[in-house]
Amino acid sequence: MRTTLNFLFLIILFTLGLDVNGQDMFIGLAKKSITPSPPIWLTGYASRTTPATGVVHDLWAKAIYLESSPNEKAIIISTDLLGLSREVHQGIVQQLASTFGLSEKQIVINSSHTHSGPMIWPALSGIADYHLEDQRAVSTYTLGLINKLVELAGESINNKEKMTLSLGHGQVDIAINRRQLAASKIGQVLAGPIDHDVPIIQVKNRQGQVKGILVGYACHNTTVQGDNYLVNGDYAGFAQIEIEKKYPQAIAMFILGCAGDQNPEPRGSLALAEKHGKKLAETVHQVLQNPLKPMGNSLRYDAQLVTLDFQKTDINSYQKELVGEDIFKQRRAKLMLEAINKGWNISQYQYPIQALRIGKEFTLVALAGEVVVDYSLRIKREFAQQDIFVAGYSQEVMCYIPSKNVLQEGGYEAESSMIYYGWPGPFADTVEDKIMQGVYKLMKNVGIRRRP
Ligand SMILES: [Zn+2]
Repeated sequence: MRTTLNFLFLIILFTLGLDVNGQDMFIGLAKKSITPSPPIWLTGYASRTTPATGVVHDLWAKAIYLESSPNEKAIIISTDLLGLSREVHQGIVQQLASTFGLSEKQIVINSSHTHSGPMIWPALSGIADYHLEDQRAVSTYTLGLINKLVELAGESINNKEKMTLSLGHGQVDIAINRRQLAASKIGQVLAGPIDHDVPIIQVKNRQGQVKGILVGYACHNTTVQGDNYLVNGDYAGFAQIEIEKKYPQAIAMFILGCAGDQNPEPRGSLALAEKHGKKLAETVHQVLQNPLKPMGNSLRYDAQLVTLDFQKTDINSYQKELVGEDIFKQRRAKLMLEAINKGWNISQYQYPIQALRIGKEFTLVALAGEVVVDYSLRIKREFAQQDIFVAGYSQEVMCYIPSKNVLQEGGYEAESSMIYYGWPGPFADTVEDKIMQGVYKLMKNVGIRRRP
């Protein structure tokens, strides 16, 4: 019913020849190459044994700055990277605060989680042995990255002009629930939860040119696997290239959703990554051919830290792991014992969550870490009256964030991945409830009520 009314409203506006764009505000876009120079270690697969040898295409950081009044502003930054560490994220936030007066609540930084991007030292340093010169190369890259992202933000602010936003949605079937793949047989339908929604925000200037296109999707950028040693953005990188070819005056940004348990299918080659990317770009193009929903120009935002508990750990088990056969467990045990000996708290993690509401029409919920798709489906279900995209991989990517279901089922996302990421053990089974309590507070603070 609501859709029909919206459609009638658009027809009336078109008939009257009125502007169907949203309310304008200052919007600025910018992009900057963050392509590393090989030889440098790529990250995401423990099976790699040497640094990268070449580059397929550039990796990008891109920014959209929004300013509806001198006091109401926000910035979204996308990066073709596996994920930022807390230290790197905080470094950027501090500089954006001191240079441009932006607060942490106004800054959303998302990573595409490409597994063919440079290592952000020392994140995930437990997955291989790195020589000193390799460490120096990735540390130098990491330091340069912080400066580049701050410059990028400055450029987007400088580029601001009065523009409008509008919103649409598509669907694309690139992702499958990878937790079901192991159990499935040929001919069986893969039954795990998925979210094929493709939210699209279009930015238009006063001359009617498309200047920016933001695209979301919930699927790991792992089409290319650990036998690849060439820098590339996986399907999201190819999709952005294709969209910018079709809309040469626009900057295309990719925001990764709750892709923790979502893999592209099929996978295994660059050709397939390109194919998935073109499919996503074509979906975006189709949606942009039809009237979009105009967006308002108000901005509301909030950020919180949620205290997450790990399951109780046993010091004795780390002492055993340290002398065991498994190199990954040895490395984790060393980290844990060092932390215990220094008196650091390894029983909890302060987990960052954010919400950015643009106009009354759309809310971006941005959660840290490798969030599984259950969160996206639950948040959209519980706030069904609002158009929402739930991004994972935002601010920092420190480990997987399992739902209660995934935690009970066990497996990679719930348990074994925590060894590679260097955490004490799995999260306690309160993880989903605690995050949802935090999300309820965020939503209330941006003016959205939960459905009774
Ligand atoms: Zn991942």
